[in-house]
Amino acid sequence: MTDPVVFDPPPPALTAARAALDRGLCPECYGRLFGRLGHGLSNPERARRLWELLGTTPPVRTGPCRACEDLFARLDVWVERGLRTVEGFEWHRFTCGSRWEPELLAREEHQWLQLGTEWGESARSAFNREWGKALEARTGASGGPDRPDVVFLADLAVGRVEPTILPLYVRGRYRKLDRTIPQTHWPCRRCRGRGCDDCGGSGKTYPTSVEELVGAPVLAAAGATETRFHGMGREDIDARMLGRGRPFVLEVVRPRNRALDLAALAPEIARSSAGRVEVDELRPASAADVLQVKEAAPEKSYRVGVLGPVPVAKVNEALVVATGRAIAQRTPTRVAHRRSDRVRPRRIVSARVVETADAGFTLEIRTEAGTYVKEWVEGDGGRTEPNLAGLVGVPLKVGFLDVLDVHDTEG
Ligand SMILES: [Zn+2]
Ligand SMILES: [Zn+2]
Repeated sequence: MTDPVVFDPPPPALTAARAALDRGLCPECYGRLFGRLGHGLSNPERARRLWELLGTTPPVRTGPCRACEDLFARLDVWVERGLRTVEGFEWHRFTCGSRWEPELLAREEHQWLQLGTEWGESARSAFNREWGKALEARTGASGGPDRPDVVFLADLAVGRVEPTILPLYVRGRYRKLDRTIPQTHWPCRRCRGRGCDDCGGSGKTYPTSVEELVGAPVLAAAGATETRFHGMGREDIDARMLGRGRPFVLEVVRPRNRALDLAALAPEIARSSAGRVEVDELRPASAADVLQVKEAAPEKSYRVGVLGPVPVAKVNEALVVATGRAIAQRTPTRVAHRRSDRVRPRRIVSARVVETADAGFTLEIRTEAGTYVKEWVEGDGGRTEPNLAGLVGVPLKVGFLDVLDVHDTEG
């Protein structure tokens, strides 16, 4: 029988291999001196091939390996240490890393120079790989750098494993059917969340939010410590979010369970929020989705109830002038605390009157991302130009506002 793996070290490698015989190395460390030579062999297998080629038996060692102090012979200890740190957590994919004393790694490189091997593999990369293989064998989980559920970091000097449990991400769309709740929770302005008389000890400006109403059932199902809400923009507190809903990603921090029943969560969110919030299209997501919803700038459609005594013909005339043309919108004073004060060009994509009454009319409009609709209707004291009130020549007031769609996809 011939062995399928060819291992044919050049003469300088054999010279180095001979010189390394009396270094008191374990098979892993000995083989690793030539770790980048030949494919398909483990380092101990490399060691055995070299001893064969040199016509010698494995060198006898007195005491532990002088390079690794038998670290590689005790990988099972590190497997146990790793597993203990994540007891009670569900994980299927993992990444291994390790922290080494720099002198140890420097000593290794010095030895490569001394022996004349240019094929050495670092102990750190070998340990990360072999530890990962041992964890895979023990648990059936899958190791590698791609989207891990947990990262194990072995601190070799301290003899401890530090785990990092990665968040779980859930993506979906929400509808907000209540005009009294904000999208995310607002810490009380006076106490900044600690709790005071102003906020009745809750630390919050509003009793609840979309973030909390969506997050609580998910947090409970995942056994997580907290959730973070990332919406694709936001609507005003007193605006409803209707239609297909607004895209969001929920980041679930330190989840114990990862296999969530997303189909069961949607009705649970509607039920526990007493119908104030509904979610749709829940699906697994990743950290990249957070960036995507944060960076997206989709057009939006609104229904706006406008109060003002003005004939509909006059409104229609104004809408012809207003649509498809640039408007200059200076940051409204009401949001000046979180956005820099400057003039931005915006666009009303389309607008039409859908209902009229004695006191006013209802508009449906589609705007470019970032347009402040209320200010465009009312004028905001001249901070938005042109504005609808100016165009019809009558003071206007927004009675209600609903978001009908966030056009992030076709539909
Ligand atoms: Zn060793
Ligand atoms: Zn307070």
